[in-house]
Amino acid sequence: MTQGSKEKERVRRALRYAKDRGRILRQVAAYHVANRSKILERVAAHRIAHVEQARMRDALRYAANPEKKRTRDAARRAVNTEEVREKDRARAAARRALESSCSVGAVTVADVRAIFAETGGTCIYCGDVATELDHLFPLSRGGPHAIHNLAPACRSCNASKHNKLPGEWKGRPTVPQSVSSLPLPAGKTKP
Ligand SMILES: [Zn+2]
Repeated sequence: MTQGSKEKERVRRALRYAKDRGRILRQVAAYHVANRSKILERVAAHRIAHVEQARMRDALRYAANPEKKRTRDAARRAVNTEEVREKDRARAAARRALESSCSVGAVTVADVRAIFAETGGTCIYCGDVATELDHLFPLSRGGPHAIHNLAPACRSCNASKHNKLPGEWKGRPTVPQSVSSLPLPAGKTKP
């Protein structure tokens, strides 16, 4: 795929997603409930093939020249604070995803920016300033690390929601209906 057509595909998907967020979220959740073991197997295989290798390569590179990375990071941070912050958010969410061995899709900095732009940078649950990415369908319950499963949230809401499904978390009355009506995984009932 060329760079241009990739970008077009991304825009097309983002538009479709923005229009149809509730339905897509329910679809994704249902797919993950139905295919959990298949997904976990695929993720494990991918992880062994790519992620561990990349991690090893990065570690070796860093060990060979730690000063180089520190200097580069500091320079980037000074020049473009917001971009670095978005990248950090993307990385933190991806790290949480890897730690729980769930499905990890590619979530780029542009995606993170788009997710935050969707609410104007406010928490989807309470409207405060969002500083984190919430996995709507929690990673620990088989939710994917993918753009359609991420939403901007403030620290308090994200921590309070923790590993509850949007429908299970009654912490704030402003949880959107499209999110709170997500199906529960097999064997679980609403409290
Ligand atoms: Zn909040």
